[in-house]
Amino acid sequence: MIMKRFWFVLPVVLVSVSVSLVSCLDRSPDPEVSTAPKNIILFIGDGMGVAQLTAAMTIAGAPLHLESMPVTGLATTSSSDRYITDSAAGGTAIATGVKTRNGMIGMSPDTLVIENIVEIAKRNGLATGVISTSTVTHATPASFVAHVASRSSYEEIAEFYLKGTIDLFMGGGFDHFGNRSDSIDLVKKLKEEGFTVVTSPDELKGVRKGRVAGLFYPDHMPKASEGRSVSLAEMTRKAIEVLSENNKGFFLMVEGSMIDWAGHDSDTDYAVAETLDIDAALGEAMAFAKSDGNTLVILTSDHEAGGMALTGGSIAERRVRAEWPTTGHTAVMVPVLSCGAGSEKFGGIMENTELFERMIWALGIK
Ligand code: MG
Ligand code: ZN
Repeated sequence: MIMKRFWFVLPVVLVSVSVSLVSCLDRSPDPEVSTAPKNIILFIGDGMGVAQLTAAMTIAGAPLHLESMPVTGLATTSSSDRYITDSAAGGTAIATGVKTRNGMIGMSPDTLVIENIVEIAKRNGLATGVISTSTVTHATPASFVAHVASRSSYEEIAEFYLKGTIDLFMGGGFDHFGNRSDSIDLVKKLKEEGFTVVTSPDELKGVRKGRVAGLFYPDHMPKASEGRSVSLAEMTRKAIEVLSENNKGFFLMVEGSMIDWAGHDSDTDYAVAETLDIDAALGEAMAFAKSDGNTLVILTSDHEAGGMALTGGSIAERRVRAEWPTTGHTAVMVPVLSCGAGSEKFGGIMENTELFERMIWALGIK
C-alpha cells in the first residue's frame, strides 16, 4: 500500500516541478509583453558597482532617480582574455555584443571590425549621440564610435567622429580634434560635415537641432565637485532635445566617466559625487521617457573599480565608511537598472554582451 501511494504521488510532483522549472528558465523575450521603444538612452557609470550606488543613496538623504527604475538586473563583465576587464573591452562588449581583449576598441580579439549599436542604429534611420565627462576619445565613448586595436590611439579615434555614424557628441577632448600632433584641423572638417561645433555653455544653449559637436575642454572635463560646466545633466537634456527631432527615433549613450577614476584613487567622496552626478543626468532622461512614453532608459556599468566595500556608516547621519582593497578594477557583476518601453527584457543575470543583444532586439532593428 505504501509503495503504491508513493508511485502515485511522485509523478505528480515531478510534473509540477518540471513545469515551474521550464517557465523559470525560459529567457526568450515575449513580444506580447511590451511595445518596442523608439528611443534608447543608455547610461554607463564607468567603474560603478552596487557599493557606489549604496553609498550615493546613503549620502543623498533623498531618493535618487535610479531608485525608481523598476527593472533590476546584473551583468557579468569579463573580457575575452581577462577575468577583470578594462573599459575598452567592457565598452566594446556593450556596444558590439562581442567580448574582446583588454585595450581593444570595436574589434574582435583577432582585430576584425565589429559593427556597433550606433552604426546599426544609424543604418536603420535613427539619430545617434554619445556624451562623456572624459574626452570623447576615451575608451567608453570610443567603443560606440571607433574601431582601433589600441585604446590610446586618441587622435585616430577622433577621426571616427567624421565617418557619418554620429550626429551628436559632447564632452572633453577638444585637442584631439583642434590641436593635433599631425596638425590636421578636425574642427574645420566637422564644420564642413555640417556639425555645429560649440565650446562653451552659452554656445550650447543656442543649439536647437542638426549635427552637434560639443568640445568643452582641451582634455577631460573637470570633476563635478570642481564645477564641471557644462554639466552631464545639461548635456543630456540638450542631446535629447536635439536627437528627438528625428521622427524615426534615436540612440544616445551617456557616460559618467569619473566614478572609475574615484575607484582608482580610493576616494569615497569623489565616487559619491560622480554617482550623484550621473543620477542627475539620469533624471533628465527619465523625465523625457515619462512624457514621451516610447523610450527605454538603462543605467549600467562596464565594470566595478576599487572593490569598494562599505564597512560602516549611518543612514540617519548620511555617512559611509568605505574601504578600497584595490586601485584597479574588480570582477564583480554590475547593476543593470532600467525603465520605460521594453525594459522588462533587462532583468536577471546577463553577460555584458547581452546588453547589446537585448537593446538591438528591443529596437527591432538588425
Ligand atoms: Mg570610461
Ligand atoms: Zn578604470
